[in-house]
Amino acid sequence: MTHVVTRSCCTDAACVHACPVNCIHPTPDEPDFGTTEMLYVDPSVCVDCGACVGACPVGAIKPHTRLGEDELPFVDLAAAYHQVERPRALQAAVPRTPRLVSRGGRFDVAVVGSGPAAMYAVEELLKNDAVRVTVLERLAEPFGLARWGVSPDHRRTRAVRSELSRILANPRVTLRTGVDVGHDVSLDELRAGHDAVVWAGGASAPRSATLPGTVAAVDLVSWWNGHPEHVEPPPGIDAVDVVVVGAGNVALDVARMLTAPPEVLARAELTPRVRERLAATAHRHVTVAARGPGMAAACTTSELIGLAALRDRAVRVTGLEPLRGVEHGLAAHRASVLARLAEAPVERSDRSITLALNDSARHVGDAGLVVSAIGHRLPDGVPLPVDPATGALAHERGAVVDPVTRVPLEGLYCVGWAKRGATGFIGTNKACARETVRSLLQDANRLVAV
Ligand SMILES: Cc1cc2nc3c(=O)[nH]c(=O)nc-3n(C[C@H](O)[C@H](O)[C@H](O)COP(=O)(O)OP(=O)(O)OC[C@H]3O[C@@H](n4cnc5c(N)ncnc54)[C@H](O)[C@@H]3O)c2cc1C
Ligand code: SF4
Ligand code: SF4
Repeated sequence: MTHVVTRSCCTDAACVHACPVNCIHPTPDEPDFGTTEMLYVDPSVCVDCGACVGACPVGAIKPHTRLGEDELPFVDLAAAYHQVERPRALQAAVPRTPRLVSRGGRFDVAVVGSGPAAMYAVEELLKNDAVRVTVLERLAEPFGLARWGVSPDHRRTRAVRSELSRILANPRVTLRTGVDVGHDVSLDELRAGHDAVVWAGGASAPRSATLPGTVAAVDLVSWWNGHPEHVEPPPGIDAVDVVVVGAGNVALDVARMLTAPPEVLARAELTPRVRERLAATAHRHVTVAARGPGMAAACTTSELIGLAALRDRAVRVTGLEPLRGVEHGLAAHRASVLARLAEAPVERSDRSITLALNDSARHVGDAGLVVSAIGHRLPDGVPLPVDPATGALAHERGAVVDPVTRVPLEGLYCVGWAKRGATGFIGTNKACARETVRSLLQDANRLVAV
């Protein structure tokens, strides 16, 4: 028997330290931690002690014997990771974070933004007793996309906010909400008052200017998550036929939420007003139009497993490419989930989701609502240099640099989506924050040495 990590895993690694036999991987010290879709228990090592279950903030870990039928694919996924992917990943090594050399006083850091990346950077910085952190957040509530992005029907994932609250509760942290850095206070003022500034402002502006008649997924998601700048629903919210352009996890979130029956909406974290509005459309058919093949679609395998598990609406995959030569590892499991969805009999249902692969959105003309879910970018007006090659901030291992000369801008660092572009999961920001804090502490120690 073994314990198993399931769909809601947000890769924050809280379980890793709870495990007495170190069988949950990749750990934050391992090279593939920054890119993994989820963590996996090694079934050959797990002693079934259950210690990881209570440590998980989102209830993602279960004993093998308590898995629902829909969760059984996660058993094979874990075995595939440990047998195939992990041995490959271990060939690269990750450097350790230095301690801050004592300088006899306090070391003040300003962190701009309060999303997951900011919180993990704060957690890493606080390991040094001299550090005091001021977190500056533009909105009235903290936690960025962990509050305004994660889908309301994924309540377990949303529970990661309690873990982020724990970081914020440290007495060496001050949170200032309603402060827009660049408008209410300048970056230069922050630099003058702190030993270092970490920019963690995210990159959640829609990637391309939204076409007429098209709604950006992030605007729709912001509305149902109660974002203060998106109080009214976008036009077309009552449409029966909807096309979502893009095939990442956000596209699948939109498809699930728009087709959710009243029982699911009742359990989702929504205001009564939003719940009522979403429930008003009893019939809805959503086509998620993916330009490329299923094996390359941006959505994770665990979200595809979640899609296949929906019993209260019809789900199918069309246009699946021939799946040859994928016999091993995590790819083989993705292929089998896609094949099962493609072969499923077409059911009549008031609510349906069609994942249309290798499709350049030819259904758009018939739709009452078109949602663009093709990714995100840095918002305009960020007061730091952008790297034209990546569209994210110009940096070297988290230290902000001039994009042309690559010379570091002293005391300025970046983390999260602002640093990497809009890729990765909540927990991906942990490894990212470690790299940035490592650079920050190395620079601070160098200054003490001279
Ligand atoms: C719709 C959506 C759903 C997602 N769902 C999941 C999921 O289910 N599971 C998962 O693992 N990952 C999910 N992700 C990805 C995850 O949310 C990101 O990896 C993560 O939030 C990035 O963290 P961040 O801190 O870099 O940015 P953000 O979370 O965007 O945080 C940035 C913060 O900075 C603040 N800010 C910006 N500019 C300023 C300024 N000038 N001054 C002060 N404050 C500022 C913002 O208000 C915000 O609070 C989702 C992403 C999206 C877009
Ligand atoms: S059940 Fe125990 S041994 Fe198994 S993964 Fe969880 S903590 Fe580790
Ligand atoms: S959410 Fe965190 S604690 Fe839970 S299984 Fe995933 S990595 Fe482990």
